[in-house]
Amino acid sequence: MTAALVTGASRGIGRAIALRLALDGVAVAINYAKNEAAAVAVAEKILQAGGRARPFRAEVGDAAQVEEMYRGIESWIGPVLIVVNNAGLLYAGSVDRYSADEFDAMVKTNVNGVINCTRAAVAGMRAARDGRIVNISSIAAAGTSAAGTTYYAATKGAVETLTRRFALELGPSGIRVNAVAPGFVVTDMVDALGTPEERAARLANMASRAVLGRVGTPEDIAEAVAFLASDSARFISGQILAVDGGRTDYLSH
Ligand code: NAP
Repeated sequence: MTAALVTGASRGIGRAIALRLALDGVAVAINYAKNEAAAVAVAEKILQAGGRARPFRAEVGDAAQVEEMYRGIESWIGPVLIVVNNAGLLYAGSVDRYSADEFDAMVKTNVNGVINCTRAAVAGMRAARDGRIVNISSIAAAGTSAAGTTYYAATKGAVETLTRRFALELGPSGIRVNAVAPGFVVTDMVDALGTPEERAARLANMASRAVLGRVGTPEDIAEAVAFLASDSARFISGQILAVDGGRTDYLSH
């Protein structure tokens, strides 16, 4: 049974990715940082449907914790051939509102997390000459008119550069590296920003900016990730796939 690690799989987009990969017959390690009960619930949902899953706690920005997590996963199920680097953190920020501590925290989870989880996986993938890594970026990296997420966007720019560079380095070993860049998806991450009135206005605004006229669901993103992690995408590497309902508000491209 192919084994996958989905980071930040206790909630939101990561949870939907874990459930979707399980439908493809993949055994899923459900990573989380704090919310153990939610991670256990995701694993139980997969088990009840006849799949295999187990929760694993680790702060992805901490290399030692990530290595320990991989040892745990490998002794449970064998080498991890699918890694979905989904765990992410967002703090609002702009030229006028900058916190060095918040930026450091975002870099640690969003960027170091991708590096740590990729580096820990490559030995097993190289031995198998098969690996599929899918990083979760954001259309924020491409430049969008949704203001106030400037430093978060910078961390996602780094994720996209790492996606292309790791694809270059790991391709000769049969390892594919791609990214999915979601548009606006309703999860705890975006629900935490602003008052209820501000949230409702943001939702309507974001829906109006997508040619499909709606915001995304975690399941919309999970379908694209499952494709990139599957054999159907066997000749695809180094790509950033925007899954955003056709957003029309980019500043560039
Ligand atoms: P979310 O609802 O806030 O969930 C975040 C998940 O990441 C949780 O499972 C959380 O675990 C985990 N996590 C956070 N920090 C972690 C760490 N240091 N180590 C391990 N796990 C950690 O977020 P989401 O909206 O689903 O976002 C998922 C990904 O999509 C992120 O990379 C985000 O940047 C990206 N994205 C989201 C949107 C959107 O509109 N929602 C748009 C573009 C991109 P706990 O439950 O244990 O806290």
